[in-house]
Amino acid sequence: MSLVDDLVAALGADRVKAHPLELRVYDKDAGVARGPVAAVALPESTAEVVACVKAARTWGVPIVARGAGTGLAGGAVPTEPALIVALTRMNTIHEVDLENRTAWVGPGVINLDLSAHTTPMGFHYAPDPSSQSVCTIGGNVGTNAGGPHCLAEGTTVAHILAVEMVTVDGEIVELGGPAPDPIGLDLRAVVVGSEGTMGLVTRVLVKLTPNAPDVRTLLLAYPTIEGAAETVSQTIAAGIIPAALEIMDRPMVQAVENFVHAGYPTESAAVLLAEVTGHPAAVTAEAGQIERIALQAGTTEVRSAVDAAERDLLWLGRKSAFGAVAQSAPDYYLHDTVVPRTRLVETMTRLYEIADRFEISMLNVFHAGDGNLHPLVAFDGRDEGARERVMEAAEEMVRVSLEVGGSLSGEHGIGLEKRDLMADVFSPIDLDAQARLRDAFDPDGALNPGKILPHGSRCYDFGMQPPLSQEPAL
Ligand SMILES: Cc1cc2nc3c(=O)[nH]c(=O)nc-3n(C[C@H](O)[C@H](O)[C@H](O)COP(=O)(O)OP(=O)(O)OC[C@H]3O[C@@H](n4cnc5c(N)ncnc54)[C@H](O)[C@@H]3O)c2cc1C
Repeated sequence: MSLVDDLVAALGADRVKAHPLELRVYDKDAGVARGPVAAVALPESTAEVVACVKAARTWGVPIVARGAGTGLAGGAVPTEPALIVALTRMNTIHEVDLENRTAWVGPGVINLDLSAHTTPMGFHYAPDPSSQSVCTIGGNVGTNAGGPHCLAEGTTVAHILAVEMVTVDGEIVELGGPAPDPIGLDLRAVVVGSEGTMGLVTRVLVKLTPNAPDVRTLLLAYPTIEGAAETVSQTIAAGIIPAALEIMDRPMVQAVENFVHAGYPTESAAVLLAEVTGHPAAVTAEAGQIERIALQAGTTEVRSAVDAAERDLLWLGRKSAFGAVAQSAPDYYLHDTVVPRTRLVETMTRLYEIADRFEISMLNVFHAGDGNLHPLVAFDGRDEGARERVMEAAEEMVRVSLEVGGSLSGEHGIGLEKRDLMADVFSPIDLDAQARLRDAFDPDGALNPGKILPHGSRCYDFGMQPPLSQEPAL
């Protein structure tokens, strides 16, 4: 007998993958790292997920939950030979409750499919990562995904009421609930963003957001990126929180325009997409105010989408940005850091300087309203030393973001990519506290080992004693 035999007995041969060529499909996500895969299981129910977990535990094989594999931080990439439990087949929208504005969905439901299902009923699921046509709700929970429209609405954690999860022991638990403020510790929020290290999420209770009665999408073009950033700062300072504020620099505008012909002005140094939603009178007032702020900041073009088709085209351009880069180079490396909004311009200047010094081709598209930067470096991994140069520049870029008071990740998570930078942000005591929390869910470290926390995160790994206040009470 073997792990694969047990999985085949539980799921059937067609939903267990063990051939090296099949395993190759699951050994990476949309980032750059690859990892070793022992087997892949494709369960279709919570009971089958329990069977997968029990089989893996019997054979001492670690378990990595996987959605669509669009993660960019290596979260779904194993660090040691692991069972990949791919939850994409659990893609049923179980129950929509319009009265309570909620829905129970499977983790494999594709983000955009959920909104497509509920939009005709007057509701949508608000977090909209640019990958929303392929990424899953389970993966969004794993990474606490954001998206262009999370500026006003908040990221995934603000839209998840409860999760059903299979623990490392194969138990089924439900964390959170339909009540807005369930009693006890908020373990639901601990699971959101935990990148598969606390359990395998098998059902999700999401909040549904009413569709806005009116929407206005503005395209604003600038001769300098500073002007676009100034518009963002002044808009928020004026007390307006638009639905979205997204900036693209010239190289990105040109790449997007070559790819989807969204009508972006390619001669501009930067383009800002600003969207306001709400009651028609408020939308008109806020759009007018943003336009006035933009004119003061030096915009050279203000375009308001005349209908839904033009609005969709403007957003198609923004959401195709990463794909558009494939035209210029076969590989790309995408960062995800957050800086205080007021330090956007200074940070951008330093990032351009790093790109010039390393002679790399950098394009920028970012959630400017949140200060969430996404410098993207296009390169050809076949060129000698190219990958190493890109990674070295990447690390400098992250450090610059930290120096100006930013954070390691805005939305893609820590995964493997940023794991070893965690010690730059957290003290040994902070890391130890996080490791203890994780131990409470998974004492043997069988769930997605080697992720988020660097090796040696526990105080005793440093030869330190935990402070007395951290000693267990009993
Ligand atoms: C072109 C492109 C654009 C993107 N744009 C955005 C964006 O705007 N905003 C954003 O936030 N991200 C973005 N991303 C990154 C990515 O799409 C998100 O991180 C997304 O949430 C990953 O979902 P997934 O289904 O692909 O999950 P995966 O990549 O398969 O997994 C992500 C993490 O979640 C864990 N996980 C997956 N399913 C479960 C489960 N059921 N239970 C427990 N853990 C689980 C995995 O172990 C892993 O750690 C983009 C990626 C690409 C390629």
